[in-house]
Amino acid sequence: MSEYKVKLTNLNKNSNEHLFIIKETFFKDFSFSDITNSEIIVTCIASKKGEKISLSININGVIKNLLCDNCAENIHVPINSDSTFVIKQSDENNLNYDDILYVGYNDNFIEIKHLIYELITLAVPSKRSHKSISSETECNKDMKKLIDKYSFREDEKDVDPRWAALKNLNLNK
Ligand SMILES: [Zn+2]
Repeated sequence: MSEYKVKLTNLNKNSNEHLFIIKETFFKDFSFSDITNSEIIVTCIASKKGEKISLSININGVIKNLLCDNCAENIHVPINSDSTFVIKQSDENNLNYDDILYVGYNDNFIEIKHLIYELITLAVPSKRSHKSISSETECNKDMKKLIDKYSFREDEKDVDPRWAALKNLNLNK
């Protein structure tokens, strides 16, 4: 049984906030995941207004296993996102809309493990580097030098041999 459940009963009372701590073990069920380690707090608040049930989810923390785009050193990438979903009851399976979550008529909870995973993935910036995460951290200069050197050599392999010859001519001047 999943421990990532949010109760949907008694929503008029105060006990409708759930906290989940997402660490390394969480990602074991997602073997394809690029993200494998984190320190994230997920705050879920289910609330009811009239007949409408909504679920707001805040994701806040750091991903711990990503590499800097520039120097390939491990960095802790902060993430923070807020999402709100409307919960609807339906006994049809496989309904899936961006901001609507479906539960069965007899369900008194919603299971959100997969949803948490998706929200974490969406919150990760596509570009991340020492510079983008903090002005106080810097790239590993030695690593960066090595990478620059390596990628220069990679480029050179693809150079047309005639251009390479020209380049040598220039160098010899
Ligand atoms: Zn870096």
